[in-house]
Amino acid sequence: MDNLQFQGVGMTSKRTRDRLIERLHESGVTNQSVLDVVANTPRHLFVDEALAHRAYEDTALPIGHGQTISQPYIVARMTELLIAATSRLTRVLEIGTGCGYQTAVLAQLVPEVFSVERIKPLQDKAKTRLKKLGVKNVRFTYADGSLGWPDDVTQFDGILSAAAPRSVPESLLAQLAPGGVLVIPVGGDTQVLTVVIRDEEGDAFTRHEYESVKFVPMLSGRQ
Ligand code: SAH
Repeated sequence: MDNLQFQGVGMTSKRTRDRLIERLHESGVTNQSVLDVVANTPRHLFVDEALAHRAYEDTALPIGHGQTISQPYIVARMTELLIAATSRLTRVLEIGTGCGYQTAVLAQLVPEVFSVERIKPLQDKAKTRLKKLGVKNVRFTYADGSLGWPDDVTQFDGILSAAAPRSVPESLLAQLAPGGVLVIPVGGDTQVLTVVIRDEEGDAFTRHEYESVKFVPMLSGRQ
């Protein structure tokens, strides 16, 4: 995967980013490729300039339209769970592009990323950012991601959702390829980070629950 080319100074410098990586490691993220990719991804370019000095804190930050850029720990953790659950990860679907940060992380680890967002201005900005960073292996669509990728035929080795539905949408299970894995926060006010794995025959799903998390809700329709 291409290395993203970027520079940062002061609170966005390499040293500041290295401190974030140490923190993620201490929090229990152990996958070295995930840590390397987070270290290599310029999070300060995904938030407003006024918040750039906070970009390497391990915290969610506002990105407008009532949405947030996910906390780095959560991005790293979900990516790690996705990678750990399957040996074959060619095509990954992301629900909730937001500012495109998680998208950029995924795009450095898997060959093809498909990303769905229901708020058009967020998607437009994310597209521009990723283009500037030279990320070329992402396809975007403006749609309701609770229905999956809109063509109904594509299946994915991995699906990662940055928005929380009350229960796992059937359409996402249907778009998991045999052996595929879905990483998704599930619940209302209290949500549980959940992993669903489809077996190789394609007819059974196994569910694993991890820590409690706080995501924006998965809403239906487009805004
Ligand atoms: N990983 C993103 C997270 C953004 S927050 C980032 O770090 O920026 C979650 C995003 O999910 C929001 O942008 C929200 O608009 C989007 N979202 C919520 N419900 C959705 C749905 N049904 N389909 C597509 N996107 C959805």
